[in-house]
Amino acid sequence: MLQDTYGRTFSYLRLSITDVCNFSCNYCLPDGYQRCHKEKFLTLEEIKCVANSFAQMGVEKIRITGGEPSLRKDLPEIIAAMKATPGIKKVALTTNGYKLTEQLPVWIEKGLDNLNVSIDSFEPSSFKLITGHDKLQEVLDGIEQALASGFNNIKINTVLMKEHSASQLQQYFDYIKERPVSLRFIELMQTGDNEEFYSAQHVSGQHIKNQLFAQGWTQVIQDKSAGPAQVFSHPDYQGTIGLIMPYSKDFCSTCNRLRVSSLGKLHLCLFSEQGLSLKEYLAQDDVEGLKDFVTQKLSDKHATHYLTEGFSGATKHLSMLGG
Ligand code: SAM
Ligand code: SF4
Repeated sequence: MLQDTYGRTFSYLRLSITDVCNFSCNYCLPDGYQRCHKEKFLTLEEIKCVANSFAQMGVEKIRITGGEPSLRKDLPEIIAAMKATPGIKKVALTTNGYKLTEQLPVWIEKGLDNLNVSIDSFEPSSFKLITGHDKLQEVLDGIEQALASGFNNIKINTVLMKEHSASQLQQYFDYIKERPVSLRFIELMQTGDNEEFYSAQHVSGQHIKNQLFAQGWTQVIQDKSAGPAQVFSHPDYQGTIGLIMPYSKDFCSTCNRLRVSSLGKLHLCLFSEQGLSLKEYLAQDDVEGLKDFVTQKLSDKHATHYLTEGFSGATKHLSMLGG
């Protein structure tokens, strides 16, 4: 099992397969996707090599992310390849949901275990304002379809923004009352490109936590390996609520994940200064070489990010890496 100098173990890999996105979320790609490199994205063969190597180092769960991963035509083959990798127990996907109604049955058939869909507002006009697309109903239809087919491993990611989230909390609660969906509020994080937006819109998740306790929600005790989300449940609700508060004390002490970008770079943290290229190992399907490299570099992983000091490393926006 991969372990760093602070005793944290890493059973979870976030693998970005493209940095291209068709949405223009105001906190991520407000001007839409602009290609700023000439490099090729990982091929299916290279992705298999990444999965094999990390699985041999104890990784059991791979989340496929982007950019928007569903823009890759070979996504079904990628899901199937991850699922077929010995040692990988869970294959997850994070998507903006715009292809859900059309593609989810295929993804499930290929072995998808968990699905995260980003919905930053249940108000159609706010959703359009945030993402640049009038697609809320389509995304919600995709989730209904999934639930109706018995696929219940669904999380909804909602980025907390002063302008939208605080006034719309009741809508989020109403949504999960009768649906077995895990709704996760994520505090807006500062990246290289969104400093002004961050200053204007960042709001702590603490007020939601206070509200949850006041309304009879209880915090679910989780295993240390479960990662940094705080989870809450309520007997009257089928769904649960998660809070991801990266600016809170000790957030990084439960870090259980490493990241590989669509350009084949290892990122020890979402906000590291640079990625470490794995390309020479991937080109030769050199699983042993890749494993040695990662094991050695893991000792450089810092105890924490430096977001509270306003440092977001080389991460201009999360479309580069997948969040
Ligand atoms: N395009 C897919 C999507 O939106 O779900 C996958 C990639 S996106 C970068 C992954 C997650 O990161 C999304 O839930 C998104 O809302 C979140 N995210 C992006 N930028 C963020 C930021 N600055 N702070 C917090 N979360 C962010
Ligand atoms: Fe695209 Fe996801 Fe970024 Fe929105 S958050 S612009 S959907 S990568």
